[in-house]
Amino acid sequence: MAEQHGDPPPVRPGPLTPIAIEEDAPLETSLRPRRLEQYFGQERIKESLRIAIEAARQRDEPLDHLLFHGPPGLGKTTLAMIVAAEMGVSIRITSGPAIERAGDLASLLTSLQPGDILFIDEIHRLSLPVEEVLYPAMEDFAVDIILGKGPKARDIRLKLNRFTLIGATTRFALVSQPLRDRFGSAYRMEFYDEAALRRIVARSGEVLHCRIQPDGVAEIARRSRGTARVANRLLRRVRDFAEVRADGVITRAVAGAALAQLQIDDLGLDQMDRDLLQVMAERFDGGPVGLETLAAAISEEADTIMDVYEPYLLKIGFLQRTPRGRVLGRAGYAHLGIDPSPRSAQADLFAQETFEA
Ligand code: ADP
Repeated sequence: MAEQHGDPPPVRPGPLTPIAIEEDAPLETSLRPRRLEQYFGQERIKESLRIAIEAARQRDEPLDHLLFHGPPGLGKTTLAMIVAAEMGVSIRITSGPAIERAGDLASLLTSLQPGDILFIDEIHRLSLPVEEVLYPAMEDFAVDIILGKGPKARDIRLKLNRFTLIGATTRFALVSQPLRDRFGSAYRMEFYDEAALRRIVARSGEVLHCRIQPDGVAEIARRSRGTARVANRLLRRVRDFAEVRADGVITRAVAGAALAQLQIDDLGLDQMDRDLLQVMAERFDGGPVGLETLAAAISEEADTIMDVYEPYLLKIGFLQRTPRGRVLGRAGYAHLGIDPSPRSAQADLFAQETFEA
């Protein structure tokens, strides 16, 4: 692993629209850790990457292509940027939906310098013609382009510089098998435990020059849904509250009052999480209920439920996914303070059997 702690990797503007890096981009960018040792948690992934990076550097070769998957806000983009910094190479950032035509991707690929990293967020949303350009690029470092039109058209193969593709997705299942097969390794990002979140909040607090006490850090970490981005977002909101409604110091009490005002409950669930659970209990008798039906009932996009809300609720056992739909778990009922109906208790049991099998 590189020992120097220099500047972040150069992010060169591509011919494509770079991805919008979240709502409050400048802050998000400033809070992004630049090196592996500032990137807390995800220990297993970091250890594998350390070995891969060290080996690639020793051989003076680019890294194998990497795929990061998991819910939004867990640090996939950040990790890609850190890999570039540790390798000492440039990174080009784009996303699946931003690459509209095969030609866009071909021109992006041909402009990569030796060893560069190409990061494609939401890689499951590449169109098939675009994806097909990626196959030979990943495998043989070449793109096939057609010159001219009609009978005179000619196929030519352009050699590319060796590069590393890092793909990120919230939907591993939607990444096609041929694309998956071309990645050297795939890493599933985990939700963060409280200890890692505390380190993330404490570091962000320093970057933002917050006056925050350890119990304030702990309170924010505990209520961050296991997600780094949520932790940073809550910290900023709590800081505002502390400055306006308190004396600027974030204590446990101040954090608690700020989060209550944001309607974030003791477990870090927000109003939408609670609506989802409540609708399941009251309108669907605990389920099983299909995702689309649930989405319609709470006026939310099915994709948003699946990507943003559901993963954490599944993790803490409030929801279960069964072949027949989503089921509200006993813990979910307990959190709402509602007794499970006999039917849903049965469904809960069924869900457990299905997934323990
Ligand atoms: P994703 O690409 O998975 O949606 P990001 O990489 O954009 O997530 O991370 C969201 C924010 O969370 C980043 O701005 C960064 O500040 C913070 N973050 C993510 N992972 C970590 C981590 N392991 N340590 C510290 N901060 C992190």
